[in-house]
Amino acid sequence: MKWDPRIEEMPAEQLAELQYKRMKTLVYRLYSFSDFYHRRMKENRVHPDDIRSLDDVTKLPFMYKSDLRDNYPDKIFTASQDELVRYHVSSGTTGKPTVVGYTQNDLELWTTSLARGLTACGLGRGDVMQVSYGYGLFTGGLGLHYGAERIGATVVPTSVGNTERQIELMQDLRVTAIACTPSYMVHMGEVAEKMGVSIEKDTNLKTAVLGAEPWSEQMRTHIQNEMGIRAYNIFGTSEISGPMFCDCAEQNGIHIWGDMAYTEIIDPETGEQLQPGEKGELVMTILQKEALPMIRYRIGDITSLDTSLCACGRTHPRIDRLQGRVDDMLIIRGINVFPSQVEHALLGIPEVSGHFMIIVDKKGALDEMLVQVEMNPGAFSDKVQDIMEIRTKVSHILRNSLNISVGVELAAPGTLPRFEGKAKRVIDRRLN
Ligand code: ADP
Ligand code: ZN
Repeated sequence: MKWDPRIEEMPAEQLAELQYKRMKTLVYRLYSFSDFYHRRMKENRVHPDDIRSLDDVTKLPFMYKSDLRDNYPDKIFTASQDELVRYHVSSGTTGKPTVVGYTQNDLELWTTSLARGLTACGLGRGDVMQVSYGYGLFTGGLGLHYGAERIGATVVPTSVGNTERQIELMQDLRVTAIACTPSYMVHMGEVAEKMGVSIEKDTNLKTAVLGAEPWSEQMRTHIQNEMGIRAYNIFGTSEISGPMFCDCAEQNGIHIWGDMAYTEIIDPETGEQLQPGEKGELVMTILQKEALPMIRYRIGDITSLDTSLCACGRTHPRIDRLQGRVDDMLIIRGINVFPSQVEHALLGIPEVSGHFMIIVDKKGALDEMLVQVEMNPGAFSDKVQDIMEIRTKVSHILRNSLNISVGVELAAPGTLPRFEGKAKRVIDRRLN
């Protein structure tokens, strides 16, 4: 099922033509009516007339999160206050929060994007969706809420927390789908187990739409097998509206609706555009946003672009699972390490779980990285010999996959922190 087959199956050339027209209109509008964009384009010696094809987009300057911070809260908005119908404020994972404003049309665009995405995950009328993302300043709760209502699903707006109550409601209201962070999904599974509830056998849950933080393909397999559900990956940032794009039933990449967004992958060092398939930093232009348009916004997440036709028939490009942000990347003794690589490696080891923490410190001049990971209850033992063997195995596997040696500490099941919102797995003591 497709929400809007005419758009979703639009031939690639036609889609590119539409993107170009919208890009051009956007650039003219901002050059004419926004002091910020006018100045930026002038400084970079580019005029709207210079954009004669989509390839010319590379002539336009980038936008950064710092542009929003420097213009806090609303100095670069291009809609007046009486046109705004909502504000959201980002969670500030990487510094001072930023404010996003929405006109009625902006909300409409966001909701339409999610209506297409949720339909692509097989959801629709008759589904009961529990929205266990935070409601409030964070975009996840309200975003998914309106998207799910638009496709005719029944929403249970539980927000995060009070997990036992959430599981009772899941059973009582015959919930078929859930939206939350992948770490909260795992936590829910554990709490359900403690309550004697099997998500697979004792609930109607079939679909999870998970995002807001990096997670691995191994984690997807784990969640799908443990709970007997299909788990889809949803992506967005508050600056582009919120969670906006997700995978389809093929689960082979996140469809980015080309009529709404123009996507580029660049080399984070040089800013040069990379080819499909090449890994780099995600940059997006949201083509029709009114209150806070973003041109060539450096989102910072690492991924690659796939422009080939998806087996689902949708012509819109896809991005690969996001590995984490350029600034999540740890540099340990000169080697780049993403926390998502650690998760990927740990989930391949049956004796340990996906609950882990990374602690980075300096010993003299050298960086030291310690991975604390919980053991699985089945492997937990009080024999020192057994524990030592597992620890050696884990450090061996981590060394092979990360290319650096790291310390390993095994923790008893259930002892490391659990996260309801975005997981914060890294403590970097070098920064103190
Ligand atoms: P903040 O910048 O305060 O964290 P957001 O809540 O808008 O604000 O977070 C957006 C970021 O969350 C993205 O840039 C990305 O790093 C991360 N993120 C969101 N969804 C996913 C996903 N499905 N996979 C990986 N990372 C994600
Ligand atoms: Zn598809």
